[in-house]
Amino acid sequence: MSVMTSLSRHVFHPLWDVKDRSQRLKLLRQLERTQWEPRAVLEGRQRERLRGIVRYAAGNSPYYARLFREHHFDPENFTLAQFATLPVLTKSIIRSSTEEILSRQFQRSELGEHRTGGSTGVALTTYFDPDWRVIRTADYMRSDQWAGLYHGMKVAALWGNPPVAGSFKERVRRLLIDRFLYLDTIDLNERSIGAFIDAWRRERPEILLGHAHSLYMLARHLEDRRISDLRPQGIISTSMMLLAHERRVIEAAFGCKVTDRYGCEEVGLIACECEVHNGMHLDIEHLYVEFIRADGTAAAPGEEGAIVITDLFNKGMPFIRYRIEDVGVPTDRVCPCGRGAPLLERVAGRVADYLKRADGSLVAGVSLVERTLTAIDGIEQLQVVQPSREEIVLNIVRAPGYSAASEAALLAEFASVFGPGIRFRPAYVTSIPQERSGKYRFSICRV
Ligand SMILES: [Zn+2]
Repeated sequence: MSVMTSLSRHVFHPLWDVKDRSQRLKLLRQLERTQWEPRAVLEGRQRERLRGIVRYAAGNSPYYARLFREHHFDPENFTLAQFATLPVLTKSIIRSSTEEILSRQFQRSELGEHRTGGSTGVALTTYFDPDWRVIRTADYMRSDQWAGLYHGMKVAALWGNPPVAGSFKERVRRLLIDRFLYLDTIDLNERSIGAFIDAWRRERPEILLGHAHSLYMLARHLEDRRISDLRPQGIISTSMMLLAHERRVIEAAFGCKVTDRYGCEEVGLIACECEVHNGMHLDIEHLYVEFIRADGTAAAPGEEGAIVITDLFNKGMPFIRYRIEDVGVPTDRVCPCGRGAPLLERVAGRVADYLKRADGSLVAGVSLVERTLTAIDGIEQLQVVQPSREEIVLNIVRAPGYSAASEAALLAEFASVFGPGIRFRPAYVTSIPQERSGKYRFSICRV
């Protein structure tokens, strides 16, 4: 550990909490302990917290008070089976009923705000109360530790639109507390990547953090140029699905395991891999997570289900049975690490990333990656867009080695997966833009 890392962790971080009167590090110490509690203990506490937030919502949010009344749901006395019959909270309900959902206990000016692009490109604004932010920050810090990242360490971050320190306070904070070295993924080019690598060699970050696909792009860059001296102690892949082939390339380029993490702006951290790297521990200390089938019943272990989340702490804007529009697979496998939280086998994709066959059945976009992008020669990058029921556009960035045979193989593969009734149109492009957040999407369905 460098002197600066040690000072930042043991001196500046605690002082900053004192200055801000923040409980962050105290909560982190609690979480470091509770992660080892048995699953039954964690689940017992989760039920109590679930009752607490439901009762709170009934008393303070007009939306939930009305919803519970209409569904004859008793917030003082309910079973999990009854809870599971409540209608889900959708993004469109949040958009149309924001005022009604917000707690009357808070002024709007007291609440923090998240704006996201949403999976369909429609903006969504959600709110949180000040305590929630501290709790969730401590929680992210604990999951950082599973990847070897302890607060105070220097982090190389691949991020879209990284924050710029403006005020003196922000600059001090950047120097002593948030020790980041950024590569802005909105504008990746030879020059910006070269400058980032130079800065890495000077500043020697200990951890690498970024969106899965940005990590992959950087790893490919290093691989192509035979650069092998960037050696972090841990890598955190966040905010989007980490594909199996991307993980292999990243781990080879940096000589280090990748820790995959799943979360979103609205509810924060949802699940994270531990050092075992086989499934992600669900954050049941802060969330109640359900996986549901199309008919509303619970998905079995190993089966795909829509992820529905109840945030146990956000009082400012209670999220009760929030359908996040992702699909996940629960499991009853027990992780050998000894932590009590159950595992999420994998995130299967976003609802909006599922493409549609002519007969209406669904194809997970990411399931096509292994049989196209990584199986056929000469494809640098691929994005699949479905603008209508009858047509799928394949945006292709060609690599050396791409030929007429590559195109034929690609079209044949798609035709075999989708069957008749759909036209496939290859479109050759020089690059595939990322979304404003810096995320890259393999498949987009607009039907
Ligand atoms: Zn584990």
